[in-house]
Amino acid sequence: MHESINTTRGKFFLTNLSQLRNDIRQYAGPDTVINVMSIDLEEWFQVTNFENVISRSGWNQCLSRTQEVMPRLLDLFSEHRVRATFFTLGWIAERYPELIRRISKEGHEIASHGYDHRLVTTMTRDEFRQQLIQSKDILEQILGEAIYGYRAPTYSFRKETHWVIEELLDTGFLFDSSIFPHGKRDNPELCDSKFPCYLSGKGKQLAEYPLSIFNFYGMEIPIAGGGYFRLLPYMFVKQMIERLNQKDKLAIMYFHPWEFDPEQPKVASAPMLSKFRHYVNLKQNEDKLKCLVRDFRFASFKDIFWDENKRKYNISTQI
Ligand SMILES: [Zn+2]
Repeated sequence: MHESINTTRGKFFLTNLSQLRNDIRQYAGPDTVINVMSIDLEEWFQVTNFENVISRSGWNQCLSRTQEVMPRLLDLFSEHRVRATFFTLGWIAERYPELIRRISKEGHEIASHGYDHRLVTTMTRDEFRQQLIQSKDILEQILGEAIYGYRAPTYSFRKETHWVIEELLDTGFLFDSSIFPHGKRDNPELCDSKFPCYLSGKGKQLAEYPLSIFNFYGMEIPIAGGGYFRLLPYMFVKQMIERLNQKDKLAIMYFHPWEFDPEQPKVASAPMLSKFRHYVNLKQNEDKLKCLVRDFRFASFKDIFWDENKRKYNISTQI
């Protein structure tokens, strides 16, 4: 249990879960659906999209923007009483432990995004386990508390990597959010569920929280965030989330800090399509996020799903 603390904006954050939940519910009102906000905490140069032009060995020479962007994002969340789950790369946490502590103290949940953004499909089972343990250890050492959540880089869980469920459960993870059930892929995803469900391994259950898509006249529109959020008109995304919420379903959204950083260095040598994916509508994106957090209420996976008595993540809301 932590003490309440003051942030730069003078708001109080209470990291005791029941106080957090009361605070969120009071702010949202009794009947408002509370959606999930999640951030994949990584640098602009670590994205899979630029993997072929910026190698991992070159990361240390790239200009870090984390310290520049994150305080702005945290202040925005503070102002709109948003709490989020931050899926954090071990590589980032090693370099900015104070930032990780600040995120946690402000009531957000810290989870793992692996160590160095290696796709699960490019790793052996042993390598995956090593990365899981390494990233979990780094975060737990910094925070002095257990980490329970995982998100695979670029949603790279596939049917052929079904062993990830057992590996996550064996290493102490209780929930995952690595499924983006959108469109038909040659390489099918691990799970087709569009809504929270349990995945089983060795008789245990892993709570799975897929990213939100919306069925719009037979078309599956990914409304969850990232490049889709930047591409789609805000009013359209707003309507889709409203429709989900009207059906008592929550939206699960994701963003990256670099998506709110138009000042980041440009990768001129990347292919056109990669540049389009990374830079499209970057300038307008912070304003869009401001609209989103003004129009909807958001909390972390822990705030919404953690069952204190059973010590597990449920798939129905607890808030
Ligand atoms: Zn990522």
